[in-house]
Amino acid sequence: MDRKLHILVVEDEAAIREGLADVLVYHGYAVELADTGTEGLAKALTGKYDLVLLDIMLPGIDGFRICDRIREQDREQPIIMLTARSSDEDIVEGLKLGADDYVAKPFSVQQLVLRIEAVLRRSRAGLERTRTILLEGVSIDTENLSGLGPAGDLTFTRREIEILAYLASHPDRPVPRDELLVKVWGYARNLDIETRTVDIHIAKLRRKIEADPAEPRNLVTVRGAGYRLQLAEP
Ligand code: CA
Repeated sequence: MDRKLHILVVEDEAAIREGLADVLVYHGYAVELADTGTEGLAKALTGKYDLVLLDIMLPGIDGFRICDRIREQDREQPIIMLTARSSDEDIVEGLKLGADDYVAKPFSVQQLVLRIEAVLRRSRAGLERTRTILLEGVSIDTENLSGLGPAGDLTFTRREIEILAYLASHPDRPVPRDELLVKVWGYARNLDIETRTVDIHIAKLRRKIEADPAEPRNLVTVRGAGYRLQLAEP
C-alpha cells in the first residue's frame, strides 16, 4: 500500500484517546487526534480522513451533532461512534444520524480493529453490495432476489435481501434488532411492535435458508445480542 490510511480520533478522555492512538499506529494507521467537539468537527470537515472515530460526550459539540454535520457535507465519510456500553438509545441515535458502525466502551482492541477494518472495507467497496452471499448449503443472488438452498430454488423479497446483505456486511458480530430497524427499515426509533416485525422476517428467512429452521445454523440468534449471519468459508 503506498499510503497509510488516516484515522481521526475525536475523544476528550486523554487515557482513551492516547490508548486509541497507540493501538491504531501499531496497526499501521496514521492517526490524528482531537480532544474537543469543536476541534473534531473542524478537522473532520476537512474531509481528509479515511475514517472518523467519534466519541459522543464531548466538550463543545457532541458526537451526534458532529456526525450530523459531517453527513450534511459528505454522505460517504466512514464514521464509527464510540458509545457507552448498554446505551441502546445512543447506538440508535448514532446510526440514525448516519454513523457506519459503533463500538461500545469499554471495548477490546481486537473488536475495535475488526470494526475499523470492516467499515473501511465496505467504504472502499462503495455502496456496491456483494452480489452473491454464500452460506452453508445456500447461495443468494442479491440482485435477482433469488437463490439456491436446501430445498431448491429460492426467491426473496427486497426487504429480505436487505436484511441478509446488512448482516453479511457485519459478519464479525451479532446485529441487534434495533439496528436492523434503523438500517434496513429506516425507523427512527424502536417500538416493541416493530421488533416483532424483525423476528417475523427472520423466521421467514430461516424457512428458506436453513435445512432445519428450528435449528438455524446460517442465521443464528445470539442470545441477548441479536442476529448473526454465518458466512461460508471462502
Ligand atoms: Ca467523552
